[in-house]
Amino acid sequence: MATLDNSKTWIRKDPARLDPQPNLLNYEATRAGFDWSQAWRMLDGLPAGGYNIAHEAVDRHVFGGRADRIAIRWIGKSGEVRELSYRDLARETNRFANALVKLGVAPGERVFVLTGRIPELYITVLGALKARCVVSPLFSAFGPEPIATRAEMGDARVLVTTPALYRRKVAGLRERLSGLRHVIVVGEECEGADDVQPWSSLMENVSADFTIAATDPEEAALLHFTSGTTGRPKGALHVHGAVAAHHVTGVYALDLHDDDIFWCTADPGWVTGTSYGIIAPLTSGVTNLVVEAEFDPQTWYSVLERERVSVWYTAPTAIRMMMKLGTDFVKSYSFPRLRFMASVGEPLNSEAVVWGEQAFGIPFHDNWWQTETGGIMIGNLATLDIKPGSMGRPLPGIEAGIVRRDANGGVAVIEEPMVEGELALKKGWPSMMRGYLHEEERYRKCFAGDWYLTGDLAKRDGDGYFWFVGRGDDVVKSAGHLIGPFEVENALMEHPAVAEAAIIGKPDPTMGELVKAFVTLKPGHAGDDAMRRELIGFARKRLGAAVAPKELDFRANLPKTRSGKIMRRLLKARELGLPEGDLSTLESDET
Ligand code: ATP
Ligand code: MG
Repeated sequence: MATLDNSKTWIRKDPARLDPQPNLLNYEATRAGFDWSQAWRMLDGLPAGGYNIAHEAVDRHVFGGRADRIAIRWIGKSGEVRELSYRDLARETNRFANALVKLGVAPGERVFVLTGRIPELYITVLGALKARCVVSPLFSAFGPEPIATRAEMGDARVLVTTPALYRRKVAGLRERLSGLRHVIVVGEECEGADDVQPWSSLMENVSADFTIAATDPEEAALLHFTSGTTGRPKGALHVHGAVAAHHVTGVYALDLHDDDIFWCTADPGWVTGTSYGIIAPLTSGVTNLVVEAEFDPQTWYSVLERERVSVWYTAPTAIRMMMKLGTDFVKSYSFPRLRFMASVGEPLNSEAVVWGEQAFGIPFHDNWWQTETGGIMIGNLATLDIKPGSMGRPLPGIEAGIVRRDANGGVAVIEEPMVEGELALKKGWPSMMRGYLHEEERYRKCFAGDWYLTGDLAKRDGDGYFWFVGRGDDVVKSAGHLIGPFEVENALMEHPAVAEAAIIGKPDPTMGELVKAFVTLKPGHAGDDAMRRELIGFARKRLGAAVAPKELDFRANLPKTRSGKIMRRLLKARELGLPEGDLSTLESDET
């Protein structure tokens, strides 16, 4: 076994023993021979011409012999189940597309959804795409202000919501949202609100047949707001042609097979919940499980067991919360069909990857991408050996590089392995955003020549694996060293008492910045001085005194975005008594 920098061993794969055979059997050969025309050929294309996401996700299965397959299996909060076959989904989305046309909503106009994970959300997204409207799903937990800002920024014409959310959050915004012409509510009628339309009557009075008009693959389809981890969220616009990347990455990075039961735990309010919570599984014709309830380990384990989930896509925060409760708890369940587990959104510490093997018998496969890239760019794939702590390797069709910006707005590619630089991607994959809403200049600044600059720092090792270092904004500059938060956090999380860790750079007169850690502990451990000394000592041994934290505080929780990302900028602002900035996506608070 080879040894890594962080002294963890590789997790070896034997593709010949994997059952079913992985879609991407030979990474090197597939990558070498890949061009995007292959991805387009995996799709159907519209009878009327062009490509439309909803046709590839729904209608083509109806004509292609999968009409009776369950497309969406929905588990409600109190355990109720609703199933939609591909035929049902085609019919309902046709109805919703017809309803939009009947309301006079034109192609290109924006349809926002604020409902929580209910079947109507999926019908709205796909139906609006059929009508060639641009869809923007919002987190239902957003308060009125984040809803208003996004709806204003995105010029929402239609909003689909529920009576409760309408009353609590939207009713007071109607005057402000002057462009919002139609509010459609799912569920019992909204008492006292005569400016809303009930979903049921709208859907009753329209035909279940709809022909999608020719759709240019460059037509706008989705508007997604970024997580707001580093500042005010940006609105990234994506096109119908993105479906080629959604599909092929679902096939290669999530290894989706025909008979899979797939569960993506992300909410469609952030891009993972749409690209992989709606589009990719449906284009592959699998059964897409939708769970309405929020995270709770017991519920999740029961869902995995009872629903016989075979492919599971989740996030580091949830994984770390499960780890906190221990391996024995997982082992009281059984998951005989579970064969692939993936994670995205934040760096996945090496402990968590390996814990997957101990608890579930298979490792977690970390992958990297952003709202802007629309789909998975770098990943640990079914057939590739895993180096725990690494994001994996670029997908077929994706060229990734480590670059250094120069003073003239250009970049130089760093060829040497294990040298830190900015992670950059060669332009040309179909799911790349086509712009930041109302921020032309910011969009332009993301590019240097052929490269898209991601704003994240990373390094590539001699075997072509990529290692996340940190977000450009979060890197700590201490006594002449550039310290990536992930390396320090990863080391701290190797200590058995540590559940989560976040690092910030704190201004210091001699060092420029010093490394300060915020730590949450697993149950049964006390955050006292002895523990503080022990953790700092532990990190020193692993990282050396220059990189290990100089200060360390304990917290009951770390502040996170609604998509589960640690907001280091907020820890920093609070530490330094600075303005807290945009908090619209803040979920749990530490105080
Ligand atoms: P904002 O751009 O508004 O600050 P955000 O960058 O968190 O928010 P997203 O597009 O949702 O918004 O998240 C993408 C970012 O999440 C990546 O740029 C990266 O920093 C981080 N990320 C995603 N996956 C991984 C991963 N596997 N390892 C490390 N970081 C990841
Ligand atoms: Mg970002």
